[in-house]
Amino acid sequence: MKTLVTEIFEYSARINNARTPSDIAKYSVTELGELMEEIIISEGQSYKEPGKDGVVGEAIDVIACMVDLIRVARPGITEEEILKVARPKLEKWAEKAFRPKLVARREHGPHHDPDVGGTYGGRWVVRDTRNGAVIDIVQYRNDLMDRYEGLIVIDE
Ligand SMILES: [Mg+2]
Repeated sequence: MKTLVTEIFEYSARINNARTPSDIAKYSVTELGELMEEIIISEGQSYKEPGKDGVVGEAIDVIACMVDLIRVARPGITEEEILKVARPKLEKWAEKAFRPKLVARREHGPHHDPDVGGTYGGRWVVRDTRNGAVIDIVQYRNDLMDRYEGLIVIDE
């Protein structure tokens, strides 16, 4: 079975109208608008009736634009090459999506941190609500941002 990308490539190659990546990107924004409208309708937030293409059809218009843009920007690119670019991105997306959110409570006062083996005296720390560990939010903010999808700090 032919893949969607291959099929879009075939149409894209047949249509020679000197379009540039910029032209395609501009047009794709109008397609994205059409998609958004179908989503709004499908969620019952519009007085309008669904169009004949619906959410799936409009999403395909957006995909077609993007695949066309790739081919026009990089003529001769193969689907295998696209996959090589896509796979690490998909991995990163999944890894990010599955990262937990850290919920921490902000506290003021002396706190012993067994990880560091020291005691924070009279400063703002956050306590991880899952395991009670104390985190020096000022010192570890960047590290925490890397390890968790989000940080929710609850003020005492
Ligand atoms: Mg459309």
